[in-house]
Amino acid sequence: MAGFFGSLDTLPSDKFARKRLVQHSEVLKGRADDEPTSCDVVIVGAGFAGMYMLHLTRCLGLSAVVLEAAYGVGGTWFWNRYPGARCDVESMQYSYSFSEELQQEWHWSERYASQPEILAYANYVAKKFDLLRDIKFNTRVLRAVFQEEDCRWLLSTDVGTRYRAKWCIMATGCLSAAQTPKIPGLDTFKGQIYHTGTWPHEPVSLSGQNVGVIGTGSSGIQVIPELAAQANHLYVFQRTPNFSIPARNKRMDPEYENSWKTNYSERRKRARSMPAGILCELGDTSALAVSPEQRLNEYERRWAAGGTSFTAAYSDLLRNAEANETAAGFVREKIRRVIEDPDVAELLVPIDHPIGAKRICADTKYFETFNRENVTLVDIRSNPIREISPEGIAAGSNFHKLDSLVLATGFDAMTGALSKIDIVGREGLTLREKWRDGPNTFLGLMSSGFPNLFIVTGPGSPSVLTNVIVAIEDNVEWIADCIAHLLELHADYIEATTSAEETWMEQVRQAAEGTLYTQAKSWYLGVNIPGKPAVFMPYVGGVPAYQKICEEVAASGYKGFSIGTPAKALHSRQALLA
Ligand code: FAD
Ligand code: NAP
Repeated sequence: MAGFFGSLDTLPSDKFARKRLVQHSEVLKGRADDEPTSCDVVIVGAGFAGMYMLHLTRCLGLSAVVLEAAYGVGGTWFWNRYPGARCDVESMQYSYSFSEELQQEWHWSERYASQPEILAYANYVAKKFDLLRDIKFNTRVLRAVFQEEDCRWLLSTDVGTRYRAKWCIMATGCLSAAQTPKIPGLDTFKGQIYHTGTWPHEPVSLSGQNVGVIGTGSSGIQVIPELAAQANHLYVFQRTPNFSIPARNKRMDPEYENSWKTNYSERRKRARSMPAGILCELGDTSALAVSPEQRLNEYERRWAAGGTSFTAAYSDLLRNAEANETAAGFVREKIRRVIEDPDVAELLVPIDHPIGAKRICADTKYFETFNRENVTLVDIRSNPIREISPEGIAAGSNFHKLDSLVLATGFDAMTGALSKIDIVGREGLTLREKWRDGPNTFLGLMSSGFPNLFIVTGPGSPSVLTNVIVAIEDNVEWIADCIAHLLELHADYIEATTSAEETWMEQVRQAAEGTLYTQAKSWYLGVNIPGKPAVFMPYVGGVPAYQKICEEVAASGYKGFSIGTPAKALHSRQALLA
């Protein structure tokens, strides 16, 4: 992206090697308990977003503190330690691109990296770039209040510490607020309850146990084959079946790895020219423009290759219901052929949404698992869970006696982690209040009324519809460029204008409207959370379009943002530079 650091092409290959830009950095002070620690930037979250943000903040010569609820880095990959947890973007792509040295020296052992390997990578990055010294672990941010008198954010944590910073960057993650459903009696269950999103860090043995699992989204689809292999009997409580494509994971082919490593910069650039920021074979014709035989061959070829780029076979699979049905029908037939019991097969066949409209899953022997004698599929769509008792689950007229229960019930996505923090902006406005009818942001990066508060991969950005590391890098670089610009101007504050925000949210809405995404009851829409307004949250326009808009905004001197200088100007709206 263009901006303060120049375009990606002209950057030194390792941005870490850039000249430090020493600005008017406030000195980080260790203070008495009653006084907050001051720094230039406070970053919440030490996943891939927070880690890279810290790195670039340091490149600007600013002091920064990262506050992280976990005891280690890695975010998603720190928390989601359930058996089978794995990335479904190829490992050669699901990694940082900002450091040529890093991408050359790190070796991925499989086509799709497992959770332990991604966590090891996150730790390696933290060490390589000396990040740990500025991260406060075991520290959950409870409250963040904008102080209008001096344009500073004051953050309070669950360990009683406070931090004061000019810029506050929320790198709290799109899928970091695990959702526990309110099922009557859940708290009376006397066995262990595990959530995939907060899996214990000690080894969990379920061998010889009767285990129940609720949820058949991406997490459920990954964990179920692993649980079936351990449990005496596994009961899968399914409300909605999902489309899943075989991942066909395998050991990393050295030649493949080498082909990436010798062409990394060119391939990363090409990946960023793709809608999902993932380099893959993108079909450019309509599924309806080819003969049924050609289509079948193409779907068979992609099915054999494995992976979620199956839905990239044709240009209109997510825009045209008839085109979509050709792919959905193909996958349904594949499922039917795998499952031995035709009644079970019909229950596993997704019929209520277009393929790809919910996040498509990638699996390893998921459907095959239902042929095992120790696995029972419980259809809770027709026989809803009545209650959970100390001994197990009552669904319809059946009772399933269980020793342990696994919740693969997902997340309060995109807004959940933010809404758990009391974020108070100008004139006492809270973010929760402002987003009551759905999140409003400009570019997913800032929300009006909350000056100097940036969000990485916020609602209104492409984030979860992409290789999220690409989305993170692009957002973090944009934020760093923006802060550098503000430093040059000696500006005290930046805030999205309400009109830019309204226009952007309309663009986000319109982009989604032209697709089939809105035809599924998905977490993209927030409908998995009772009471959450149904608003399609991510921007569907794709990485290149979004990046172009972000670059244009920056190049125009941050059109759509008010930039204030000096601090006192905050009180006088006329003094704000539009
Ligand atoms: P996170 O990794 O979620 O990190 C956010 C951090 O903020 C967490 O460590 C959290 O503890 C911390 N935090 C939140 N609130 C607070 C608070 N109040 N105080 C202090 N700390 C706080 N994306 C892909 O592109 N491809 C994939 O294959 C893929 N697989 C996934 C698999 C799973 C199981 C899940 C859950 C997500 C997956 N994702 C995938 C999305 C994944 O979340 C992103 O790829 C990426 O890891 C997000 O990084 P992040 O730093 O933005 O957020
Ligand atoms: P999810 O996709 O939201 O799936 C949650 C599952 O729990 C759904 O099957 C849902 O059923 C069910 N559920 C929720 N509440 C329930 C209730 N009260 N009663 C019965 N069933 C209930 O969550 P997820 O599987 O954790 O995945 C979330 C996202 O994380 C993914 O979409 C993906 O982006 C990411 N992820 C990626 C991978 C990967 O392969 N790389 C792995 C895991 C997660 P309904 O559908 O009927 O609501």
